[in-house]
Amino acid sequence: MLAWPRPELAVYAVAPLENGGFVLGTADGELLHVDAGLSLRQIFKASEQMVVDLRHDPEGRLWVATETEVLRIDLPSRWSLLGRYEGLRGLVTDSAEFDGALWVVGGRGLQRLSADGQGGVRIERLPWVPLEAYALLADERGLLVAERQGLWLLRRGETQPQRLHGESGVTHLLPARGDPNRVWAVADTHLLDLQHGPGGWTIMRRWPLAGMVPQQVLELLPGELWFSDDRGAPQRWRIDDDGRLDRQVFGPERGLPQNGPIRPRLFAIDGEVMAWADGQLHRLDPAGTGFAVTEPAAWMRELHQPERLDIVETAMGLFAVSPRDLLLRRKDSRDWERVQFGGAASSGFGMPRLGASGVLRVPAWNGLLQYNPEGPLPTLQPLAVAFDRLQTRWQDGDWQPAQPEHGVLRLRSGEALRLRFGLQTLEAGATYRYRLSGVVDAFTEWADRDLAIRSLSPGEYDFEVEGRLPSGRPVAPMRLRLLVEPSWYQHPLLRLAALTLLLLGSAWAVRSFARRRVARVEAANRLLEQRIAERTEALEQANAQLSAIAVIDPLTQVNNRRAFDLALGREWARCMQSGQPLAALMIDADHFKAFNDRFGHLEGDRALVGLASVLGQGLQPPREMLARYGGEEFVLLLPGVRPEQALERAERLREAVALSRVGVTVSIGVAVRVPAAGESSSRLIREADMALYAAKRAGRNRVQYAEA
Ligand code: GH3
Ligand code: MG
Ligand code: MG
Repeated sequence: MLAWPRPELAVYAVAPLENGGFVLGTADGELLHVDAGLSLRQIFKASEQMVVDLRHDPEGRLWVATETEVLRIDLPSRWSLLGRYEGLRGLVTDSAEFDGALWVVGGRGLQRLSADGQGGVRIERLPWVPLEAYALLADERGLLVAERQGLWLLRRGETQPQRLHGESGVTHLLPARGDPNRVWAVADTHLLDLQHGPGGWTIMRRWPLAGMVPQQVLELLPGELWFSDDRGAPQRWRIDDDGRLDRQVFGPERGLPQNGPIRPRLFAIDGEVMAWADGQLHRLDPAGTGFAVTEPAAWMRELHQPERLDIVETAMGLFAVSPRDLLLRRKDSRDWERVQFGGAASSGFGMPRLGASGVLRVPAWNGLLQYNPEGPLPTLQPLAVAFDRLQTRWQDGDWQPAQPEHGVLRLRSGEALRLRFGLQTLEAGATYRYRLSGVVDAFTEWADRDLAIRSLSPGEYDFEVEGRLPSGRPVAPMRLRLLVEPSWYQHPLLRLAALTLLLLGSAWAVRSFARRRVARVEAANRLLEQRIAERTEALEQANAQLSAIAVIDPLTQVNNRRAFDLALGREWARCMQSGQPLAALMIDADHFKAFNDRFGHLEGDRALVGLASVLGQGLQPPREMLARYGGEEFVLLLPGVRPEQALERAERLREAVALSRVGVTVSIGVAVRVPAAGESSSRLIREADMALYAAKRAGRNRVQYAEA
């Protein structure tokens, strides 16, 4: 049990849990998990912002709405955060398991974390690393510590470290590829070749960096090192067995443009060296002579900051890391999944490390995220593939709902079949594959949920559908037997029966047969429709709850009006307290109706997405906010910004839009106020709106400041 952390905690939202406990959300973005016995079990820092709403979904998960985001949280979770509540302070850059403890480096030097015997953590700062430290490497031979003033080795069971290098700081440690007795250490001025021999670890050789400031170092082949240089173009170093160095610089003449102050950053994936430069992905040609622009994979395009991408190989699989993204491609898989934190904070990611105990650790801005694969998991309802739609059509007739009986669906030869698969879950991104014995014997590729089967020849078929979710949650497959009967004219017995009927000419028999059949079909339809209605209703209810707490505009992925209204209230109050100005920029696409008329609505939607992306340039969340105010109108809220700064910002954005490929221009109305007591925040928006209309009247594609 934890003690109540602070008496002044401002609780804003509550959600009951199924087991009798509940969760509280606070103004500081924390979630407190309280059990049925009113003991505080766990504290998560879920967000930097206020928790405004909490809902439990039908799948036993918790949805958390903050002022600008919606998070989905598993309780209990395999993820936990070692942060300030445990006493871990300062920025964390790396971690390692060694000698029965967890070692952490970062802004506060080297810290040793161990269990305190009472369910808590004891944290010790090691005095021999007084300034910041950057990297750790541990195995049974010792712990290597790279820090501002040099490189240390701590042996197991000892408390006194040995200094391996003291002339300059050491920033990176990289185990050499294919050689367990070698480590590359990047020092401020040299690359060090650290080797393990009978006398322990020693520095065997060193090569001057000659002005390079490495941000990263990768080794693709033994002795072939790649550096991203903070001061210039990336470099490839080839070091042979005798220590001779061949150094090559990959600048514009080798296909890598230099994009201003942001230097190209390298990463290696599936044996290929890639670099982001000037907003584009470049790939090293197979001969290794230069880079050429290449198309990024779909998952890369979805990263928030692709130019900050790193790829890290662990025993669990490949991690893709950028400050706001953490994706995992598991061993033996081709698909990338977004790592779902159980609710711990989720940004500012550093290098993931898989400890010897199997625990994965990822540095984040507010501590060290830990994933314990042995930890508890929330109990989720079992999922199974089902039909959202199952219809048949005979010749040119209408589509009719069909109903399998005891797992068997009877069809006539020539009857078409239309299916839509479904999973009753709120998780997005389900895909399906199927096989149909005798027709498609191997499973198809994973695909969308709709399938049409034109017609099958008479016979029996086994139809099997598998479903899959991005989270990897298990899904039971569905099996259906298709019995395709020959058409009456194909079937000798039916032919005879028809003839008999005809001969008997019994109108009564025909009528009653038809009535029964119609009744049976209608009953089956009602049952199916009822089932679908039940499922749909449950999902719709859940979706309605979610949209009520949603804060992101689904088209442009920027904040929506609801989020903006919340932020405006908050920033108005904050600026009133601090006496600072608050600026609002109302931004409206020019002649957008004409754009739609000319290029179509779809292209219009695409333009809005592009516009949102240009307008988001240089945005500094969480206090600054860009929101879609409605239709083709956006609003930018800038706390603490003076009129001339707001005008300059507006002018820069207007120009960026005009020069971009979006295809429209914008008019911007700017208003700035220092909030006064008794005054409403809506006045600021009204003024910006009026300025916007003045900009429109004055000819569009311009910025107008609100008249007092
Ligand atoms: P002005 O320069 O005066 O702003 O002219 P306008 O045509 O942009 O202004 P108006 O307000 O008359 O028209 C706005 C248009 O924006 C009308 C509407 O069809 C379009 N629009 C609003 N929301 C969307 C959307 O989500 N997608 C698309 N494609 N068009 C939208
Ligand atoms: Mg417009
Ligand atoms: Mg408009």
